[in-house]
Amino acid sequence: MLDAVHRSLGPLLPRGSLASLASLLGLVGLAALAPACAASSSTDGATGVDDYTSKKGKLQLVVTVDWEGRDLRDDNLHAMQDLHAKFPQVKIVHFLNAGYFTKHGAVASDVAARMKSAIEPGDEKGLHIHGWKRLFEAAGVTFRGTPTFWGTNLDPHGNECIEDCGQEVPISLYTSDELRKVVKLSLDTLEANDLGRAKSFRCGGWMAKPNVRDAVAAEGLTYEHSAVPTVFLQEKVGTMPLYGWLDELWKGTTHVSQPYAIATATTGLTEVPDNGALADYVSTQQMVDTFEANKALYLQDRKKNVVVSVGFHEETAATYLPQLEAALTRMYDEAKAEKIPFESVTSEALAAAQ
Ligand SMILES: [Zn+2]
Repeated sequence: MLDAVHRSLGPLLPRGSLASLASLLGLVGLAALAPACAASSSTDGATGVDDYTSKKGKLQLVVTVDWEGRDLRDDNLHAMQDLHAKFPQVKIVHFLNAGYFTKHGAVASDVAARMKSAIEPGDEKGLHIHGWKRLFEAAGVTFRGTPTFWGTNLDPHGNECIEDCGQEVPISLYTSDELRKVVKLSLDTLEANDLGRAKSFRCGGWMAKPNVRDAVAAEGLTYEHSAVPTVFLQEKVGTMPLYGWLDELWKGTTHVSQPYAIATATTGLTEVPDNGALADYVSTQQMVDTFEANKALYLQDRKKNVVVSVGFHEETAATYLPQLEAALTRMYDEAKAEKIPFESVTSEALAAAQ
């Protein structure tokens, strides 16, 4: 996805922020980081056990975080550690980005340690890709800089690309064969740094067009989490080219859309709609409204699982996690009061409707 700092201030800020990457990625002492200390996340926090055992279905919570590949600031990592501490029953689905490893001067062991500081054992390690120039070039792919989400053009040889650039470039501009190289490099890089080998994917800017889906499926991924209800994006990016692309790509996706099977050139994927979008775009009340709409869907047929997906970005976690945490508190309180079996899950618990 794209985060609010990037969105609200346009492409200038990320370029400026790159200047401090060396300090963010390599020079900040890891000793300064508090170790992740959340309790075991093995308990699911489900309520209404009787309902669950007799009726089978659950209201499933998917909490996702998109790692944009831009920076790994202490305040954001600490905010994610706090989320784990406050909600030990929540398993976070991390869409990890290999772009951090390809920044100029990045020290892989330091990057990996900072990423792991925000990941707990019960969490899922998935994959996120933005159109970063250095990442694509590391995969042997010639960078493309136009058009961006905002209708602008990036000059690969311009000042804006000296450190790195391309977060706002939709990766659907590339061929499926080119994308396979980037997906493979990303998977290999993350795995080599003990960050798992992803089975799930979310595309930068939600731009998982068919050629992107073909590439991730061909590289062995199973779950695709990019379908988004564009109604949540209209206020903040409604005038941008990105909005029109997404409105076409994910037509019909709503805040109660459920996982479904989607074909690719090879093996099929389970498409998991990001039906509550991400915290940079939605308020606490909108997240609770999405929960309640999906709860109502669940109550229509308690034999079936119903999924509600909410999330945030690593790069803006300190800013937006408070409103997500407020929403989670209200969701858990409501589920408990109404004896709704409500359980935080990872992708493997999600099945496409038959
Ligand atoms: Zn993103």
